[in-house]
Amino acid sequence: MTTTRNETTGWIPSRANGLERLQAFAPKAGAAYAKLRNYDLGPGAHDHVSTLSPWIRHRLVLEEEVVSAVLARHSFTAASKFVQEVFWRTYWKGWLELRPAVWKDYRQRLRLLGTDLDRDRDLRQRWEAAEGGRTGITCFDAWVEELKTTGYLHNHARMWFASIWIFTLKLPWELGADFFLRNLLDGDPASNTLSWRWVAGLQTKGKTYLARADNIAKFTKNRFNPTSGLSTVADPVLEPSTPAPKAPPSNVSWDCTIPTGLLVTEEDLYPDFLLSNAARPGAAVLIRATEHRSALKVSPAVFRFVDGALADTRSRLDSALDSETEIAQGSHAIDHVLDWTRQNGFRQLVTPYIPIGPTADLVRMLSNKLGSHGIGLIPILRCWDKASWPYATHGFFKFREKIPKILRQVSLPSAN
Ligand SMILES: Cc1cc2nc3c(=O)[nH]c(=O)nc-3n(C[C@H](O)[C@H](O)[C@H](O)COP(=O)(O)OP(=O)(O)OC[C@H]3O[C@@H](n4cnc5c(N)ncnc54)[C@H](O)[C@@H]3O)c2cc1C
Repeated sequence: MTTTRNETTGWIPSRANGLERLQAFAPKAGAAYAKLRNYDLGPGAHDHVSTLSPWIRHRLVLEEEVVSAVLARHSFTAASKFVQEVFWRTYWKGWLELRPAVWKDYRQRLRLLGTDLDRDRDLRQRWEAAEGGRTGITCFDAWVEELKTTGYLHNHARMWFASIWIFTLKLPWELGADFFLRNLLDGDPASNTLSWRWVAGLQTKGKTYLARADNIAKFTKNRFNPTSGLSTVADPVLEPSTPAPKAPPSNVSWDCTIPTGLLVTEEDLYPDFLLSNAARPGAAVLIRATEHRSALKVSPAVFRFVDGALADTRSRLDSALDSETEIAQGSHAIDHVLDWTRQNGFRQLVTPYIPIGPTADLVRMLSNKLGSHGIGLIPILRCWDKASWPYATHGFFKFREKIPKILRQVSLPSAN
């Protein structure tokens, strides 16, 4: 089956389709991307960006594969803008990993806001109007529609959307982040939460992002021309303090002589780096955590993408391990994995390291249960994360200086 690279409905959640899209986009990732990437031409016409984020988010396609394919066609200098964008994701993942309290506080605030929505009629009406695309701000309402029908928004639209949500509609940023996480096929705890915080002025302290009418008109090629109604001021949201970074995670040694199973999550659906050594796991189990992305209902489109991606991963693992892979989901997922582990006689499970977010929250409970039966859960960091995350201590511009060094560490070409 052939697909156009930029179809925004009918996303195919397989590794093969992600790699196909990457090959189709790679020629455009050099100077053209640097010049045109900020133009949002609307649903079905996101031709200047890769639209690879749903695959990258679930690690159906790896960051190093994306960077490697692009550097095979362009010099580091020509592709630097694209490479940097890929590293924004890596940076956000690392930044949150070093500050778990930011995720915990965000989830706690959402719980409190749930109560506020029950009590405060005005807040509920404004929130429902925003999520329903009934604000009367044409561009905003159109982005709500695009998000709900395609599961994707261009980066610039996400920035304008978050800015209007916070500074014009005066809604709490956490509710907007939750709305995105329920509807984006690439919904990611780090990239999403921290991008919303960035717009609100919480990441770069006091520096907010204001959506300006002329900027929207220019970069949507006049599809939208909001002449009035947008806030012209963006006062930063305040918080008492941001936690200092903790030490980055490191790999633990594990016993490769005892029976071992493989646990795979939607955070990393290409775990081949754990299959190639002598201590190959005997069988694999996949656990789905999609329903935990929000206390509210996650969109059917997100479930479709994840379920398709899990099925694709299962068939790849079935062939690689020559055994039947299980999928655990729903309210009994943890017990399902525990039973499977015990039935197979595994004394430990290895898993690609699970970064902060709903999946890690779920797997922490699993780990406690396994532990009470004397079964270990061993997370293994990828070289990419191990090389990058220690530098996510300050702002992106400081992190960016390390990109050539990180690329050398993972054996990819760099400028110096
Ligand atoms: C408010 C807001 C919320 C966001 N929420 C998410 C999210 O939940 N998940 C997510 O993956 N991205 C998120 N982003 C970042 C960015 O908008 C998307 O990654 C990008 O639009 C995906 O489209 P693409 O694949 O066509 O990107 P391209 O421009 O083709 O970039 C290639 C890849 O680089 C990475 N990338 C590019 N820009 C960014 C960025 N600014 N931050 C982090 N990674 C980036 C993505 O993995 C992307 O697939 C958010 C941005 C904002 C402003």
